[in-house]
Amino acid sequence: MLDKKCSSCCSPVKVHRSFPDEKIPVDVNGEKIWTDRGEIMIPIKHIDTVRLRTFDCKKLDQQTGQCQDYENRPDICKNTSCFDEAHPSSIDEQHREFVDEKFITTKK
Ligand code: SF4
Repeated sequence: MLDKKCSSCCSPVKVHRSFPDEKIPVDVNGEKIWTDRGEIMIPIKHIDTVRLRTFDCKKLDQQTGQCQDYENRPDICKNTSCFDEAHPSSIDEQHREFVDEKFITTKK
């Protein structure tokens, strides 16, 4: 969330384990903007069911934790959110829960 200067969903990028390489977003030169970290993250809350691939994103500014091309970010980024407006919890509560989520990280 920009107003929170949060980069939790971009650092690292986390997608389902079955996410295919063909869907990794590319830049104007056709080069993939995500680099596979070779690890799997397992959310402790969903330890038996969820496995996530992780990537480093070339567009993430490591100093500020912000996207360097936010206006032109790929659709997969535009369509990803850490909150649901229909959820009974407030946006702040949902964001806090997202940021505080604990993971086990293993090599692929
Ligand atoms: S393109 Fe921007 S919004 Fe998308 S993962 Fe990279 S840093 Fe995050």
